[in-house]
Order: sequence, then structure tokens, then C-alpha cells
Amino acid sequence: MKRRSDPLRRLRRMHDALFKAYGPQHWWPARTPCEVILGSYLTQNTSWKAVERSLENLRGAGALTLDGLRAIPQAKLRRLIQPSGFFTRKAPALKAFVAMVDEEFGGSLETLAAMPTEALRRRLLDLPGVGPETADAILLYALGHAVPVADEYLRRVVERHGLIAIEPGRKHIPYDALTDLTRCAFSAAPAATHAALFNEFHALTVAVGKAHCGRTAKCGGCPLAGDLKKTASSFYTS
Ligand code: SF4
Repeated sequence: MKRRSDPLRRLRRMHDALFKAYGPQHWWPARTPCEVILGSYLTQNTSWKAVERSLENLRGAGALTLDGLRAIPQAKLRRLIQPSGFFTRKAPALKAFVAMVDEEFGGSLETLAAMPTEALRRRLLDLPGVGPETADAILLYALGHAVPVADEYLRRVVERHGLIAIEPGRKHIPYDALTDLTRCAFSAAPAATHAALFNEFHALTVAVGKAHCGRTAKCGGCPLAGDLKKTASSFYTS
């Protein structure tokens, strides 16, 4: 497998075009790391509007903090997060997260955040209800680790622009290939800026995904339309 540099440059240019079009996104839309973590779990397989309804319920019940989540019975937690769906799975998953913080990190998100990135990512992925996207969103937006986050919106953009070739026998580009592409695209930037770049890039891809690149691509007026003609080269080629 060999890599060509062009898709990396294209991805950086896409970031710049999106930033020019949309400006800073000020992500994650939350007031505290605990709210980010809650949002990361609740947004799985649902819209952000639905998440906001659940977060409002939790705010009203004083359960937007670790203390609040600890104190609230699981049955009540299920009711409060019902608007964002899959509540029978998400409520015990949130309780398992809090139990891990209490039992292994003295009840402190700061202590949790102090773990080395790779070990922390593995620990998060061992939790129920935590896949790569949730783990990376928590790492980046709640715990301050410089890891890229990928999602369905980025996958659509990368596939539609041909930045990574889909391997034979696969329907889509795997998650790790998307984060690898993002990490490599920004690797020349100073390390101290990586977290901010990953933060902004993920938020910007969500913005273009919502505005233009949903299930059906609406390329007219899209800030990335100018890149579409460059679909010949690919990050991974065999
Ligand atoms: S809407 Fe079209 S131009 Fe915009 S990101 Fe999607 S495929 Fe690219």
C-alpha cells in the first residue's frame, strides 16, 4: 500500500475552504467536559435536536454532572434520555462510565484525562456502548487529547471526493482510515495546534454535511465543489 501526498493537501485545502465559508464552529456545543461526554453517548444514532431534549431533561433534574449522574437511579436516567433513543442501552452505558471514573480514577475526570492517549483510548473502547467515534469525541472534546474524530459526514465527503479508495469487497472506508487521513493531513502543523485543528475540522465537516453532503449530495453552492474535479488521486492506492 503506498500513499500519495496529494489527498493530504486536498484535505487541508478542504479544511481551509470550509473555515473560510463557515468560520470557527466553537465546538463542542457544551458547557463542561461532563456535558460533552453525555452528548457523545446520547448522539449515537440520533439527531442533535433529540440530544438537546435529553440534555434539557438532565439539566432540569440536576444530572448534567458526574455527581448528578452518580445519584440518579438508572430507571430515572432512562426516562430522562428517552428523547435521544436507545435509552435502555445508553443509560447503563453512562452508569458504566461513571463507575469506571469512580473505581479507577478517584471520581475525577482530570485524573482520567491525565492518562496517556493510547491507553486511555483503549480503556474507553472497553466500556459498553463506546465505539471509536464516541471514544475519540470524548478524548478530543472532553479530555483535551489531540485525536481526530471521524463520522458519517466525513466518510461521505472522503468517498465522494475519492480521497481514499474503497478496498475491494468493502462497501465503505473504515473508520481508522478516515482518522489516519486526517492525522496525516495535519501532521506538518505544530503539535501544539493539532487538537485545535482536529476540533475545528470535525466541526466543519459536520457543518458541510448538514448543509450539503447528506444522504443526497447537494453540490451546488457547496464550499467543497471546486475539489470534485480532482477525484483521480487517492490516499491509499494498491
Ligand atoms: S455536497 Fe458535493 S461538493 Fe459538497 S462535500 Fe458533498 S460531494 Fe463534495
